Amino acid sequence: MLRQFKINLLQKEIHRLALFLDVDGTLYEIEKSPHLVRPCFKLQKKLHIIRNKLGGALGLISGRTLNDLDRIFDNTQIPVAGNHGAQLRDALRSKDYPANAKKIEEIFYKITKLIGRQNNLKVENKGSNLTVHFRNSTIHRKEFKKTIMKLVKHEPELIFLEGKEVLEIRPLHHDKGTAIAFFMRTKPFLNRIPVFIGDDVSDEDGFETINKQGGLSVRVGKYKKSKANYFLPDVKSVHIILNQLLKLR
Ligand SMILES: [Mg+2]
Repeated sequence: MLRQFKINLLQKEIHRLALFLDVDGTLYEIEKSPHLVRPCFKLQKKLHIIRNKLGGALGLISGRTLNDLDRIFDNTQIPVAGNHGAQLRDALRSKDYPANAKKIEEIFYKITKLIGRQNNLKVENKGSNLTVHFRNSTIHRKEFKKTIMKLVKHEPELIFLEGKEVLEIRPLHHDKGTAIAFFMRTKPFLNRIPVFIGDDVSDEDGFETINKQGGLSVRVGKYKKSKANYFLPDVKSVHIILNQLLKLR
């Protein structure tokens, strides 16, 4: 039975925590198109204050590209993982794992050709990753999924993942779990208790890493199959937790 995540902290204890947050479906409601998510000054400010309270140990772990995360969070100084962990940036360095961009380009071309004029389906080439956005689309998903699976089947370095309203093709060895593990080996995350809040299938790798490190894994929405130890009902409740962190004095 999953328990609802609650924060019960004293100010002095906040320095023992490292907080990792997914973006879409966690900090932001899922929009009809990923571009509809706009920068929010209030949220940026909130995250910066929390980051300071945590002594810097706040990270954003997203499926979006670093460029897109910079657009939304105003070139943030918060450590970020983009493309589900295939791109990393902390205070000291930026790390783009070598990805088979050529292969992704090839698959991108094949999919765009395949879908032809089905305008409501959006295919996004993110360099190391590729995302098909279904929101708004009427395409027969099962059939389409099979086709994509066939395209990826013989690519040993790529993996296929189905999330909320998206299909994602990503490099096999980099996921949200490896991203969190990377940050946890570096300052200021080192030796802290990690907390990760996420809402989708791709966040499960993150929950696995968090559980191994004795942290708190939190899934937004209730999913019986989740590896998370806790849940939060919705985006609103994530913000309630953030506001509680803000109030710690
Ligand atoms: Mg999400």
